[in-house]
Amino acid sequence: MIADAEFDPTRLRAAAARKASRPRRKPEAEVVREGIDYIRAQPQSYARKVHGSQFGNAGEPDVDASVRGRAVKLECKAPDGGKPTAVQMAALRRWQAAGAIAGWFTNTGHVEELLDHVDDTYPEYVTDLERPGCSCARHQNIP
Ligand SMILES: [Zn+2]
Repeated sequence: MIADAEFDPTRLRAAAARKASRPRRKPEAEVVREGIDYIRAQPQSYARKVHGSQFGNAGEPDVDASVRGRAVKLECKAPDGGKPTAVQMAALRRWQAAGAIAGWFTNTGHVEELLDHVDDTYPEYVTDLERPGCSCARHQNIP
């Protein structure tokens, strides 16, 4: 136990100031919640969170949705959280091969991009899984 007279808060204060000055990184759970809220706000749409800790859900995309009858399966990564793992990518590819809109996102803008393709038919439209959101010319603003 440290007596009050010996306690020096200087280092604690400096650490708190450093932490407060760093830009807050949005946690993945918050990004997932925003993506789900966005999908639920669309007509004829529903989305739910898939909890990866449940048995049998290893690698399954975080967001399980249906938008106007089209299955939508999305993996969420926190900003700067890296790409989906190999197991997650394999799950996205399985859903893609079954005709779902599958992809990954780090913000709601990416979800919007992917939902723009809900009415595009498979296999003419397939999301490029190398990047978050959609890499098509329209969404990369390529004329
Ligand atoms: Zn696109």
